[in-house]
Amino acid sequence: MTQLGTTANPLRVAVIGAGPSGFYAADHLLKQKALAVEVDLFDRLPTPYGLVRGGVAPDHQKIKSVTKVYDKIAADPRFRFYGNVEFGRDVTRADLSQFYHAIIYATGAQTDRRMNIPGEDLPGSHPATEFVAWYNAHPDYRDLTFDLTQEAVAVVGMGNVAMDVIRILARTPEELATTDIADYALEALRHSRVKRIYMLGRRGPAQAAFTNPEIKELGELEDAEVIVPPADIQLDPLSEAFLAAGADKAAVRNVEILREYAIHPPQGKTRQIITRFLVSPVEIIGTERVEAIKVVKNELVQSDDGSLRPRATGETEIIPVGLVFRSVGYSGVALPDVPFDARQGVIPNLQGRILAEVNGSPAAGNYVVGWIKRGPSGIIGTNKPDSVETVDRLLDDLHAGALMQPATPSRAAVEKLLALRQPNIITYADWQCLDQIESQRGAALGRPRLKFSRIDDMLAALRNQKEPAGD
Ligand code: NAP
Repeated sequence: MTQLGTTANPLRVAVIGAGPSGFYAADHLLKQKALAVEVDLFDRLPTPYGLVRGGVAPDHQKIKSVTKVYDKIAADPRFRFYGNVEFGRDVTRADLSQFYHAIIYATGAQTDRRMNIPGEDLPGSHPATEFVAWYNAHPDYRDLTFDLTQEAVAVVGMGNVAMDVIRILARTPEELATTDIADYALEALRHSRVKRIYMLGRRGPAQAAFTNPEIKELGELEDAEVIVPPADIQLDPLSEAFLAAGADKAAVRNVEILREYAIHPPQGKTRQIITRFLVSPVEIIGTERVEAIKVVKNELVQSDDGSLRPRATGETEIIPVGLVFRSVGYSGVALPDVPFDARQGVIPNLQGRILAEVNGSPAAGNYVVGWIKRGPSGIIGTNKPDSVETVDRLLDDLHAGALMQPATPSRAAVEKLLALRQPNIITYADWQCLDQIESQRGAALGRPRLKFSRIDDMLAALRNQKEPAGD
């Protein structure tokens, strides 16, 4: 057999999941000069880009321009996209091992972490992940409903996802109308009666997970203002000492911004974003639906590792709210026939090499990148070095002869099987056609794009494009 990775016997890699980490893995493989390689990228949706399309907030359009980089990667003739193909349903791990020397899982963190408190599943209590997917036109979430007739809302958690949710709830319809927010979400938010948004953090201002631009942006909204109660910004001695050490500049700046909000006179805007630090929800109260959230006041104590963690004091408060968004982090979902560490919500791995079990031995030829590898942290760019690390281990294994040995390592063979399993495969050219249609629909309304939110509509739009109605 000719050597693997040569023109006569190219290395064939399947990547599952077309988000940033999947694209960066493909990119690093395609950049290997001495390597003949073919990369096939699968996604269960017809649309690529993962959270760049389905997660990044619609009012953060600039961040989405990173997709140009992904389009460049996809333009390489050694790259193929198989959209609308679901791993585990249309194609299994056993199937792929017949066609590829290696599989890289890049499926992200598709669900929410739970708070495990009474009332969490009452109507009106939602994971932020679902709200985000809904306003971003994700086909699986587009039919959800959120009761925006409620005047008071609690958003639990102080990360950047919480900031996104708060902004989308607090912006005016006019501000949202220039974004690519889903059309039905724009319509629902147009009729929103939300007036007070409580932003609940279990630790203090110096430990908030949001970044400086995100907390600053809340103060720049057209018809919403941030209210930081003065007592909320009083730091405890441990936090004071932490900030004085000066190691965490972002935390120092976060506190400065919050202090500016605290002394700002009220502006009389329609919507108020009210901070509550050092509180943990202990119950979501309601009979038929959410009526209030009960929180316990926390104090900060030092852990053995030096970090400051919250400890409940026993003093509680009930905040009347009609809607709760739980924004306490994402979690990975197990894939069929792929090892999974349910405690951490990730695929067990060592530098991206999948382990048959936690602390077990590597599963040859199987790799992982992105949030399903390391957990839901970091910005889009964090995925680049993360994917490079994994692909470098894959290349080490290539040189050590430790990859899979597929029976039919050919594109024709995989496409033959896919044609039997999924009649509506979306190619990258198909996606680019959809992309253009969405952009044109948006341009007509002065918006960056008007997204399709149903897979059937995407397929119909493509059919119309390919077979224009005759006269
Ligand atoms: P995150 O940054 O990890 O924030 C999670 C928040 O939930 C923290 O405030 C955390 O508090 C809190 N929390 C966790 N468990 C809790 C519990 N049981 N009760 C109360 N609060 C709890 O997660 P994320 O906001 O989902 O964001 C995920 C990643 O995406 C982050 O790296 C984020 O920066 C990134 N992202 C970036 C952008 C952007 O750049 N604009 C936008 C969206 C997301 P503790 O700190 O006390 O644990």
